[in-house]
Amino acid sequence: ETDSSNSIIRQLPPEISNKIAAGEVIQRPSSVVKELLDNSIDAGADHIKIVIQNAGRTLIQVVDNGSGIGKEDIRLCFEQHATSKIQDMDDLFRVRTLGFRGEAMASIASVAQVTLKTKRHEDDMGYKYEIWGGEEKSFEPAAVEAGTSVAVRNLFFNVRARRQFLKTDATEFRHILKTVQQAALANPDIGFELIADTDTIYDLPKEQSMKERISGMFGKSYKASLIKFREETSYLTVHGILADPKLTKRSRGEQFIFVNGRPIQHRWLTHTILSIYDTWTGEKDYPFYAIFLEVDPKQVDVNVHPAKEEVKFEDERSMIKLTKSVVKKALNEQFLVPDVTDRE
Ligand code: ADP
Ligand code: MG
Repeated sequence: ETDSSNSIIRQLPPEISNKIAAGEVIQRPSSVVKELLDNSIDAGADHIKIVIQNAGRTLIQVVDNGSGIGKEDIRLCFEQHATSKIQDMDDLFRVRTLGFRGEAMASIASVAQVTLKTKRHEDDMGYKYEIWGGEEKSFEPAAVEAGTSVAVRNLFFNVRARRQFLKTDATEFRHILKTVQQAALANPDIGFELIADTDTIYDLPKEQSMKERISGMFGKSYKASLIKFREETSYLTVHGILADPKLTKRSRGEQFIFVNGRPIQHRWLTHTILSIYDTWTGEKDYPFYAIFLEVDPKQVDVNVHPAKEEVKFEDERSMIKLTKSVVKKALNEQFLVPDVTDRE
């Protein structure tokens, strides 16, 4: 017998540890949108509908026509570190799916009121499962369409501090919009519908070309001014679409970088691209661009950030150098450099 009376360390019960983990993964409504979209994309959906109410405060619902979840996996998918996507350490270095940490569903369910409806295409019957603040409320068979619908209500209903940290509806919605734009740009083959309160913001059909997708979201004026580029080396493939330097804006927000289909933030690369544009635009103007980097998953660590927004390249310098030269070349081929000194 161990002397438990002297022990002051104890393992936290899952209700508490999930809530702590949720603090890292789920920071605001847009984090929920991102995690649910990742799951729908990983599930092979070709149509995804997103319904938002009150900037995600009262409702975030994502409905997909992907694989669906079998009865036995429904409870499990809300367990911490429960995933169908990796099995061992080796898999971690060759992940092709967006998810793999098995944290999102458990985290979301610990800080909101979640209703899951799901049916696999091969099953006759689907299920409805409700979990509020980590506590199971109901689990019953239900007649539902094949695929998965996750409705997240009253986010942070049980974490007052988090609720109070949320910004204005306009700001929270801007984050949601960006998250949807990222998913829609990375997956032009998937149809996306975004409904906010009573407005249809996007209704993007599946199997769009990149240019159709971009003008479908950002406006027809973009279409004529988009430049495609692509370059492959043994280490890295860089491709994407850039806007005409004439079509720049005063504010940030339409710059997109993806690594192996995953949207990321990358200060150094962002700065590098913007400084190339400076040659044409002068400082403080922001172009639209969507840059896709494809590397061997072994060359990039996506596991440095809980929400996976940052990644670590094995060879950052080469990545930057190559991307810079392709972007520069693409712009130079299309647009004469104006007669100003190169500010680089
Ligand atoms: P991860 O995506 O890292 O595996 P999550 O907590 O996001 O972890 O999801 C847990 C599991 O639940 C997934 O591995 C997947 O098997 C299942 N799942 C979640 N959402 C969906 C969905 N929309 N369609 C099919 N399966 C899903
Ligand atoms: Mg996930």
